Amino acid sequence: MADQATDLLDGLLEGHVVVLTGAGLSTDSGIPDYRGPGTPTRMPMTFQEFVASAGAQRRYWARAHVGWSRMGTAEPNQGHRALARLETAGEVSFLITQNVDGLHERAGHQRLVALHGRISEVVCLDCGGRTHRTAMQRLLGQANPGWIEEHTQVSARPDGDVDLDETGRFVVPACAGCGGRLKPHVVFFGENVPKDRVARCYAALDDADALLVAGSSLTVMSGLRFVRYAAKAGLPVVIVNRGVTRGDPLATLKIEAGCSQWLSAWSGRSSRRGHEDVLGSLGHDLGRLA
Ligand SMILES: [Zn+2]
Repeated sequence: MADQATDLLDGLLEGHVVVLTGAGLSTDSGIPDYRGPGTPTRMPMTFQEFVASAGAQRRYWARAHVGWSRMGTAEPNQGHRALARLETAGEVSFLITQNVDGLHERAGHQRLVALHGRISEVVCLDCGGRTHRTAMQRLLGQANPGWIEEHTQVSARPDGDVDLDETGRFVVPACAGCGGRLKPHVVFFGENVPKDRVARCYAALDDADALLVAGSSLTVMSGLRFVRYAAKAGLPVVIVNRGVTRGDPLATLKIEAGCSQWLSAWSGRSSRRGHEDVLGSLGHDLGRLA
């Protein structure tokens, strides 16, 4: 980061910073971005499609069964770890993530809302019962022996989905409690984010001094609304993303950069500044004693 830019940034990202992250943050963990270059063109299944037929649910779970066997190996990257350090240092007051991969939590982040839920949970659409995805993976494996091994050549997608067309003979287990339909506990396209989650994010912004967006093109309203809210409240909005975002016209500062590297630089600068403050106050005390 150039000195002029970092000075400007230090002025903007002062006090309590709320951070909004998207798929761009997890690409360095090997999870592809829907909207990045070179991604598959097929759109994710909508909520309406999923609930409409057993065939759609079979297609979803057949692909997810293969996708999970790969996503399970993803690890937090230096961007996730930098944000967790910035939270500990008191610079990041709250994190809103659009990602469902759980990597912020794995990096040790504490105060956050997973806006679109977590791919590691499964919910029953009929009784509301929840189970862990690893238990579902076991059931899927028992009902469809050899399925993963037969489909090792297909490409992975960001929500744990893969490209897979022949799913007619796939067997989807039903809810153990009520025999109902099981769905990953994530917000599908065409489905609303639960109101209490959104309210927690607005409340965090009400107490914030700035909003930083990292790695999101802000294509969907679920994330863009927080940029609009912050801009309307007069908070500085800094966007770090490779490529155009829908929030660019509202940004105080837009930075074209990769997330992990940039967040690490911010975290490093913040810890040095903290160190200088400590040295500064130490010098003051020593001066008084003398
Ligand atoms: Zn159920």
